[in-house]
Amino acid sequence: MYDVIIVGGGPAGSIAAERASRDGLSVLVLEKATHPRSKTCGGGVTQKALDVIGGIDKELIERETFGARIFLPDYRNFAGTIGDRVAVMTRRESLDHWLASRAEDAGAVVQDGEAVKDVLFNKDYVEVVTSENQYRSRMVIGSDGVNSTIARRSGIRTRWGDDIGMCLEAEVELGEAVVEECVGDRFTEFYFIGDRGYGWVFPKRDHISIGIGKLITRAHDLKGSFSRFVRDVSLQKNIDIEGKISGINSYRIPAGGFDRRIHSDRVLLTGDAAGFVDPFLGEGIYYALKSGEIAADVTADTVEGGDFSERFLQEYVMRCEKEFNYDLKSALKFANFAYDHRNLFLKALWKDKRLFMEYLRTVRGDMTYTEFNRWCTRRSPVTLAKLIVGR
Ligand SMILES: Cc1cc2nc3c(=O)[nH]c(=O)nc-3n(C[C@H](O)[C@H](O)[C@H](O)COP(=O)(O)OP(=O)(O)OC[C@H]3O[C@@H](n4cnc5c(N)ncnc54)[C@H](O)[C@@H]3O)c2cc1C
Repeated sequence: MYDVIIVGGGPAGSIAAERASRDGLSVLVLEKATHPRSKTCGGGVTQKALDVIGGIDKELIERETFGARIFLPDYRNFAGTIGDRVAVMTRRESLDHWLASRAEDAGAVVQDGEAVKDVLFNKDYVEVVTSENQYRSRMVIGSDGVNSTIARRSGIRTRWGDDIGMCLEAEVELGEAVVEECVGDRFTEFYFIGDRGYGWVFPKRDHISIGIGKLITRAHDLKGSFSRFVRDVSLQKNIDIEGKISGINSYRIPAGGFDRRIHSDRVLLTGDAAGFVDPFLGEGIYYALKSGEIAADVTADTVEGGDFSERFLQEYVMRCEKEFNYDLKSALKFANFAYDHRNLFLKALWKDKRLFMEYLRTVRGDMTYTEFNRWCTRRSPVTLAKLIVGR
């Protein structure tokens, strides 16, 4: 019997496995795909996420970004950078493979190519049923992403509500020089062209990730929006992105900041499975890593104390709340304001450079959304004056 079975070998699962192994637990990771496996994602890893894992191998870094270029609905745009690195651009197949290898090096057994089908609860253990085997453990950590089997089979959540987004994304090979011409060397690009969501172009070494994401309730004709977006970006940049697309990926993304159930007896949910994603930007890797770490530590305490009850595991909820989930609620307040008053928000970002810089610092992790919102409240007379004067 294992101390803990972790279902899913993405960032949340691998960091939980690494940490739990280092905490002295016997750990089995069950991953349905085979590493290196792809995951529909922009692959942007913010500095605050890098800090959680103590940096990453140089070879995994495809580009570094120090700021962002923001596009208005009519494609007018403005850019800002800060002196420090905001994020690195990675390929998820390489990043996730590397994180899984770190978990293995720490002592976890990583069994990939084995999908979990069910989880059965007994008085003294949990039985995890895969396509090939049945395994027993004291605890289960559900790190199996937005379509979590563990959330469903444990009864924690049977379905998502409207608090989830839908994305379409393509990886387009352009060659290094064209990527630099297309996006530049220091920026990510955000296009606020639609309602309650945005489009992006993220530069990788020799390709770009181009995509669009919207809240599910506004995602009617997402395919049409994506085609129009790619065509417009191609025309704007005078680069044939449209003609070079060989495949389009679609994937769901939860929006964080909502109160949700994330645990039950012997079960903790982490990362996307728990809905831990920035509701404005869609950043999820940082929250996957943070929740994975906390889940591992709480599991170690649980195994030591021998109490696997939902009541004892409330500790996980409280630690997530303290370390990042309260802040995701501030992020949701910010997202609601920014999307409900999109044009005003974009104009403010354009006219008030300091506001833009502070937001980049928030994304980087130098300040929290809670601190940023407070800063904005204090700053608002200045921003308002800049909007009126038009500078
Ligand atoms: C289009 C798009 C772009 C994004 N861009 C960014 C970005 O640039 N930066 C950022 O920070 N975030 C981004 N995100 C969010 C980010 O991808 C997720 O938040 C992050 O991957 C969550 O990590 P995770 O480990 O919780 O889940 P995942 O990365 O989804 O990993 C879950 C793992 O579980 C496995 N699994 C699923 N079901 C089972 C099962 N039954 N049995 C066994 N294994 C199973 C899957 O194969 C997968 O490997 C983006 C999301 C989307 C959709």
